[in-house]
Amino acid sequence: MDELFLTPEHLRFKEEVRAFAQKEIAPRAVELDRAGPKSFPYELMRRLGEKGLLGITYPKEYGGLGRDFTSYVVAMEEVTLAYEALGPNCQGHLVGLLPIYLRGTKEQKEKYLRPGVKGEKLSAFALVEPQAGSDAASIQSHIVKAESTYILNGKKAFISNAGAAEIYVVIARTKGTQRHQGVHAFIVEKGTPGFTIGNIDEYLGMYGHITGELLFEDCRIPSDNLLGDEGDGFKIAMETLDRGRVGECAQALSIAQNSLQEAIRFAREREQFGKKIAEFQAIQFMLADMAMNIDAGRLLVYR
Ligand SMILES: Cc1cc2nc3c(=O)[nH]c(=O)nc-3n(C[C@H](O)[C@H](O)[C@H](O)COP(=O)(O)OP(=O)(O)OC[C@H]3O[C@@H](n4cnc5c(N)ncnc54)[C@H](O)[C@@H]3O)c2cc1C
Repeated sequence: MDELFLTPEHLRFKEEVRAFAQKEIAPRAVELDRAGPKSFPYELMRRLGEKGLLGITYPKEYGGLGRDFTSYVVAMEEVTLAYEALGPNCQGHLVGLLPIYLRGTKEQKEKYLRPGVKGEKLSAFALVEPQAGSDAASIQSHIVKAESTYILNGKKAFISNAGAAEIYVVIARTKGTQRHQGVHAFIVEKGTPGFTIGNIDEYLGMYGHITGELLFEDCRIPSDNLLGDEGDGFKIAMETLDRGRVGECAQALSIAQNSLQEAIRFAREREQFGKKIAEFQAIQFMLADMAMNIDAGRLLVYR
């Protein structure tokens, strides 16, 4: 089916990423995940950066591969197939850099996008808060302006790469504003006084991925770190998610694909009533439904 939607160049790139991911990532996946919670795979992320896979869609002038989002999707499928925790790490990084790419000044791009694209520094995108998930316009983290700085107070939740990243794009509002109005986007560097990492979320698996809280207490952000103009924050956040969310779909596809492969392997191996269970039609129906749903999902993602 891939041939229907992917160009020969996409297929070649997919093969290239698959060869790398199966050789360097897949053999380490079990060991990394068994290392337990909070074992963030810095080394593999660095390797992805060296291979250009943390900067797939960014221009070559900033060290990226200058490819389209379909290339990003096929690469995320392959990386996630090899180790499912790596996809969300790459995704957190992609959405961390996207606002800088879309709205950053030349100086901001040099300072943050370039090292991010090469994987020298990881990034994160911080929109969601404990009480503001799907309803992103209800964020409460707020800033007040003080001469050449913005003073940020608030709490972000479920942030991918929390603590592992060095560059954070944080969405916050002017104190007292409502909904989509008065929302801004800032770049906040790890180590900025007043910025700390809160609780890291407990997972049931996928331990190589981190989500956690960001805490801001009178955190002073230089005005040079504003992205776009004041008040652009909500739009920047939505532009980022519009482009970035498809990467999560690619990861979901890979996890489903791996599940199907495992189910087929088990059905061909397990015997009951004197037969491999794969020979029972009821099992075949289930496997066929899984394959059909994955195909449907892939069609949607590629479209
Ligand atoms: C692995 C992971 C990584 C993440 N990484 C990041 C990150 O890097 N940066 C970041 O900012 N956030 C991140 N998030 C947070 C993520 O964006 C939120 O989980 C998401 O926006 C949903 O918010 P919520 O979890 O608060 O769910 P809620 O908004 O509370 O939703 C709960 C349920 O209600 C449903 N629902 C909500 N509103 C409606 C409606 N109007 N109609 C019908 N149903 C509705 C939802 O579909 C959901 O099933 C991450 C989350 C996860 C799980």
